[in-house]
Amino acid sequence: MKKLAVALALSLLSPLSLPSMALANDNVVEAELNIYSARKEVLIKPLLDKFSEQYNVKINLVTGKADALLARAKSEGQFSPVDIIITTDVGRLARAKSQSLTQPMTAMLPEFVTLKDQDNHWVALTTRNRPILINPLTVDSNTITSYEDLIKPIFKGRVCIRSSSNIYNQSLVAAMIIQKGEEQALAWSKGLVENFARRPKGGDRDQIKALVSGVCDVAVANTYYLAAMRNADEASQAIANQVKVIWPNQSDRGVHLNISGIAIAKHAKNIHAANLLIETMLQKEAQYWYANTNYEYPVDPSIEWSGTLKAMGTFKHESIDLNQVGELNAQALRIMDKAGWR
Ligand code: FE
Repeated sequence: MKKLAVALALSLLSPLSLPSMALANDNVVEAELNIYSARKEVLIKPLLDKFSEQYNVKINLVTGKADALLARAKSEGQFSPVDIIITTDVGRLARAKSQSLTQPMTAMLPEFVTLKDQDNHWVALTTRNRPILINPLTVDSNTITSYEDLIKPIFKGRVCIRSSSNIYNQSLVAAMIIQKGEEQALAWSKGLVENFARRPKGGDRDQIKALVSGVCDVAVANTYYLAAMRNADEASQAIANQVKVIWPNQSDRGVHLNISGIAIAKHAKNIHAANLLIETMLQKEAQYWYANTNYEYPVDPSIEWSGTLKAMGTFKHESIDLNQVGELNAQALRIMDKAGWR
């Protein structure tokens, strides 16, 4: 199914639909572009192949775990071949910037772009949300409408969430620090630990599985994991279809928002091609393909969501400064640690 969806989406991405070169000195496009991508090859390579063909740029793609790729760029220093870094979570993008692994981009960003670094070191390509998921057979959805409800006594021993080493949770807590203050973020983290069904383990998919197998009744996970399971094999579909999404805090701050993004590496040598790729990734066809293949939300508001995301409904999300979320990641981790969130 997944392969078919990718093929279908790709067929909509004709070479002609890619942008004409928009950069000021666009006739100077380098012959190659070196990319470190934390996105899986299948999720990114078809787009890069189109770009490569269109602009006659040879792309060298290295995929791997986000933190490992950043560590590699750091240890390579000024000798690093990397031009472009593609990764997820604003916490990581902010970390890359603070470790001097990135530089300001000069790409012409479309008007809809609001989710970007204040100094243009990174820009969001997609957004993702981290709502509450429940097993509707065991939880009345009226009893849980906010992240704060997760620490209610009725959910004691019933909550599954991954560990504090996971950057998605660090960003979730960082966003809470911004909106409710450090003290409340700590109280919430402590309350959450009190309600854990088990010692945190596994990824977001594992929390979804645990909901259905009866390990817990309430979980927190990014929607694209649920969406991917709803489009995977029958067994995964059967699990994912039993889970209900609760969009939290709809009467106040909204569901937690995060991003996947792109940045130009500090020691990039192929600057023009790097900027051109960023512009391309923000064009309509790339936005459609990239967001739909990953089951994320396109940053271009004119692009339709995938059917699976549409079926999960619309929602209000946080509208805080992502720069701040990134900067508060380390503080969030200290709070989680203090709360006993392992
Ligand atoms: Fe993820």
